[in-house]
Amino acid sequence: MFTVIAELSAALAAIKEATGLAKTIREAKTESEILAATSDLNMKLLSLQNDCFMLGDMVRLREESIMELKEKISHIEDFKRQTDGYKFEQLESGAFVYARKQVMNDTETTVYLCTKCFSRHVVSILQPTGKYSYDDNSGIRYVQSQCLHCSATYMMNKSPYKPDSGVYVL
Ligand SMILES: [Zn+2]
Repeated sequence: MFTVIAELSAALAAIKEATGLAKTIREAKTESEILAATSDLNMKLLSLQNDCFMLGDMVRLREESIMELKEKISHIEDFKRQTDGYKFEQLESGAFVYARKQVMNDTETTVYLCTKCFSRHVVSILQPTGKYSYDDNSGIRYVQSQCLHCSATYMMNKSPYKPDSGVYVL
């Protein structure tokens, strides 16, 4: 803001000086006085033209940054709308996610969002991979889900999966 105001003040001062020079030319008594004042006037007009170009550039840059900010605000508002009602939760595996209960086809289900993407203001629903993750420490199997945006995999809640005896009957 300061630079635009400074540039504008310089331009206004140049206009004032140019007006003064025009008055000098009008009231000049000799040819040399006219020549000197005309030369000064030309210099002032050139500097004024330069000020106008700079002001034009500043206004253009400002408009660009306003557009960028508007886009950012709209993205944040959109993100807030899409994540409304989601709560930060810890799953049985210990993993953290954003979760929201919602009713789909008369059944209540919980939708989970990727925390990594969430922190970058990206809404990405975790999708089940159909596989399980085995926790070596506890020996418990957890349902595995994946973020399709950043490819992170999550150990979710305990898996109902019961492995077979491992004995293949031929
Ligand atoms: Zn993700």
